[in-house]
Amino acid sequence: MVDALPPLRDVVARYGLDAKKSLGQNFLFDLNLTARIARAAGPFDNVTVVEIGPGPGGLTRALLSQGAHVIAIERDWRCLPALEEISAHYPERLTIVEGDALEMDVAALVQKYARGAARICANLPYNVATALLTRWIEAEPWPSVFDRYVLMFQKEVALRIVATPKERADYGRLAVLCGWRTKTRILFDVSPSAFTPPPKVTSSVVELLPNPAPLDCDPRALSRVTQAAFGQRRKMLRQSLKSLGVDASALLAAAGIEETKRAEEIDVAGFVALANALRSA
Ligand code: SAM
Repeated sequence: MVDALPPLRDVVARYGLDAKKSLGQNFLFDLNLTARIARAAGPFDNVTVVEIGPGPGGLTRALLSQGAHVIAIERDWRCLPALEEISAHYPERLTIVEGDALEMDVAALVQKYARGAARICANLPYNVATALLTRWIEAEPWPSVFDRYVLMFQKEVALRIVATPKERADYGRLAVLCGWRTKTRILFDVSPSAFTPPPKVTSSVVELLPNPAPLDCDPRALSRVTQAAFGQRRKMLRQSLKSLGVDASALLAAAGIEETKRAEEIDVAGFVALANALRSA
């Protein structure tokens, strides 16, 4: 037993937390699994973890029992009484914030509530997972306040996060962004049967370690060039980059990239060179 709190299935039944698809609710009740995810984000000496979407609190409890302070951001008000119960069990260790994580400045929450280092660990709601990750990794200034991100995604998204030009089908905008500012790896897969209700697909826990000194580049320029390049990924760059409204050949020459290459052949350093060339175009 992780703590003296009631089993999660009882909590869900008591507070009527039937899962809502619109909120990406696929809950974890297996305490061994939540403990494993928390361990992947630990150790927690003097660490505050921001958890997005605690739901009934399975992962929250694992993080707390392993010593973390937790700031939990939950959009579904129905979960708040269950979270309050956990907070009472771990006095002064859990800060509950009600609201939409997409609308929140998580770094500001950390400044307000965190003690020690700050980290993000979450079983993310799949419908907003990519949007949240993109926002965190594009944050300015960099490095951000977070020293690590340990996050559950659909496996298909996890593969798109960690891809390199070698994994052509998965390599795209997300891989370039994450590969620019972080070191990524998939830690382990989680079968659909681990969730209630089970999603249709396998999930994966991904670790992103911030690179303290990534190549110098403006994230907005990087976003523009990757959007243009991968928006027409089968075309040669001299064609696809025309949508940027600049001389594509001159841009490629300035970045030292052959005009006949396609987006999926260009590594992160290549896209950074293109973004920097765009800034000076
Ligand atoms: N952490 C819990 C677990 O592992 O059992 C629940 C994970 S469930 C996949 C996603 C959680 O995110 C749900 O509790 C849902 O209500 C919450 N959520 C969905 N959209 C959100 C948003 N925009 N901001 C904050 N929480 C959100």
